[in-house]
Amino acid sequence: MKKNKLGNTDLFVTPIGLGVLTIGYTQLDLPLEEGAEIVKYAYEKGIRLFDTAQYYETYPFIREAFKGIDLSPDNPDRPIIASKSLDHSYEEMKAAIHECLDALGIDHIDIFKMHEVRQEPDWSDRAGAWQCLIDYKKKGIVGAIGVSTHHVDITEMMADIPECDIVFPLINYAGLGIRKGDGPGTAEEMAAAIKKCLDAGKGVFAMKAFGGGNLTNTYMKSLNYVRDLGCHSIMIGMGKKSEIDDIVRYAEGVLPEEYQPETKDKKIHIDQGDCEACYSCVERCPNNAIYINDAGLADVNYDVCLTCGYCAPVCPVRAIIMW
Ligand code: SF4
Ligand code: SF4
Repeated sequence: MKKNKLGNTDLFVTPIGLGVLTIGYTQLDLPLEEGAEIVKYAYEKGIRLFDTAQYYETYPFIREAFKGIDLSPDNPDRPIIASKSLDHSYEEMKAAIHECLDALGIDHIDIFKMHEVRQEPDWSDRAGAWQCLIDYKKKGIVGAIGVSTHHVDITEMMADIPECDIVFPLINYAGLGIRKGDGPGTAEEMAAAIKKCLDAGKGVFAMKAFGGGNLTNTYMKSLNYVRDLGCHSIMIGMGKKSEIDDIVRYAEGVLPEEYQPETKDKKIHIDQGDCEACYSCVERCPNNAIYINDAGLADVNYDVCLTCGYCAPVCPVRAIIMW
């Protein structure tokens, strides 16, 4: 598979990456060997960008999958691993980076990001974590640094932050899940912010091209839209080998324009018999898709749910599951 240079970094990535979130406990919750097999299969099929996060708890899958592969910068064809942390302070971010290195058994990681940066004051509140990333890049322990975000404002702002190498924004043609300030943003607004980042030399890989599964019924249109924005890679969460086969064929340009895979929508479900109305999921959801209903229990607005699974881990009674 051909590779794209990731902005001004010296990293080269495939136009499709594997989002490792899907195989983890917030979504498919695959056993270690099965999940590792998916990561390994993606690598064997030529994918060379893998995005994970401290929050996903998926490092063991990656370590298992890449056993015996040289992950150091000396190997030009290594799988590029990107991770990220929700942390705010310098010390927390330092711990998150070391947790990642230890869990993966490496002493250098290609990309580390601030996870899910929201509108101000979030960026300012996380100044300590950002400074830590800058310092770890200077030390040569992290190769490139950046942010993941659902927000137009943050994406736009990152174009002007000189230390930022990588931007990982949410984008899809329908605008599902895009935020701007306290409200929704549009695909056009995010596309303009992405262009600004690309023009500034940032490495850009995109998330949620399928809007969290809501746009898989327009498979080619969804992928083509993000590809045509010029993003260096599109991160796709996949839990089946057949999905990897499809996306590799897409990246190689051999999938017919009319292609449409069979799709089975998965959804977040809340077991209201267990819900204690603690509001943790309401506060955690990046897309305001959970609310407390008239019965005083958590409920999902499926019109805006992105099936990201971020809500599940914060539920103290495990009332949130995806199937
Ligand atoms: S309800 Fe849960 S799965 Fe849906 S967007 Fe919110 S955090 Fe993500
Ligand atoms: S986190 Fe769990 S217990 Fe709390 S409101 Fe949400 S579903 Fe209910």
